Amino acid sequence: MLQLPIYLDNNATTPMDPRVLDTMLPFFTKHFGNAASSTHKFGWEAEAAVEYAREQVATLIGAEPKEIVFTSGATESDNLALNGIFEAYAAKGNHIITVTTEHKAVIDTCKHLEKKGAEITFLDVKADGLIDIMELEDAIRPDTILICIMYANNETGVIQSIREIGDIAKKHGVLFFSDATQAVGKISVKVLEDGIDVLAMSAHKIYGPKGVGALYVRRKNPRVKIIAQIDGGGHERGMRSGTLNVPGIVGFGKACELCSVEMSKDAERLSVLRNRLENELSSLKGVAVNGNIKRRIPNTSNISFVDINSAGLIVSLSKNIALSSGSACTSATHSPSFVLKALGLSDEMALSSLRFGLGRFTTDEEIDYTISQVRDSVLELRALVAES
Ligand SMILES: *Cc1c(COP(=O)(O)O)cnc(C)c1O
Repeated sequence: MLQLPIYLDNNATTPMDPRVLDTMLPFFTKHFGNAASSTHKFGWEAEAAVEYAREQVATLIGAEPKEIVFTSGATESDNLALNGIFEAYAAKGNHIITVTTEHKAVIDTCKHLEKKGAEITFLDVKADGLIDIMELEDAIRPDTILICIMYANNETGVIQSIREIGDIAKKHGVLFFSDATQAVGKISVKVLEDGIDVLAMSAHKIYGPKGVGALYVRRKNPRVKIIAQIDGGGHERGMRSGTLNVPGIVGFGKACELCSVEMSKDAERLSVLRNRLENELSSLKGVAVNGNIKRRIPNTSNISFVDINSAGLIVSLSKNIALSSGSACTSATHSPSFVLKALGLSDEMALSSLRFGLGRFTTDEEIDYTISQVRDSVLELRALVAES
């Protein structure tokens, strides 16, 4: 039986996998210790669990456990990377290169750094959402300390040419930081092969709990320096103080392990469902899929429907299907998505777009139902427009 409403906003957050919850529960009650308590069993147990999770997280991205710093989520990881590198590399320069379609956690942090004396180059993207690699290389200066480019976009799912970017960063001796929150756990992300020096990720986008994330900080070739932004006890090798969220971290580790095992199978299944959704909806006239369709994470589809206001469409569907027009952070305002505008969409087309974010628990049946509901709603709304 179909359970309504159907959840298709997995880029905003994912339901926690029950297997993750099971792993976490004992750490709220029985194993409640502080991982920094080194004088008794309660502390040792908690510490061992955290270190096990650190291995699970590191394994998913091909890193060493020592290179993982636990944080409260990708927003904090983005802040720590940008602010921490800006402070640590002040002697080399103050120039950072990033992209207009980054997540707000990056954009707003860069704007904050501008006020503190940073020079930020915001690269544009092409109509398919990808950056121009030549433009990136041209933007590098002697005082460039960091290239900050997300792995996969949260609104369109478009995957940047990460390895090429990594090569260019290496060639010019500039650090490469990637917010990989939407890529990790969906596609293979490997920090060594990808040439990533610093990487942000979050548990609640990969069927783990909210309020936990990590920053990968490379320890050799090169060893990256980061100045802590939260002081107080020197936890996480001095990069992020504060008592560790042990249950959250344990859940994050389990979520990563599940992705390591199940990711490729999930990806195959979800891309089939996503493509079916797109193909079926494309049979309506005036439908455009946004972003490079060949270079996307498998769960995401961003579609514009000509003559439709997506806010109205979302409301008319909302009883049965949970959808958004893009970032959860901007959905309250319903101004046109800055990501879609950067791809060159008009305000009107940007305001007519829906983001479908499929996930591990999305079924065939749910997609069939979604296709018919969206189709009916679009036709209905268009008929109203035609009448008026
Ligand atoms: C969700 C998301 C974030 C924010 O992550 P939180 O853990 O919710 O702070 C940052 N970047 C991207 C690309 C995201 O999708």
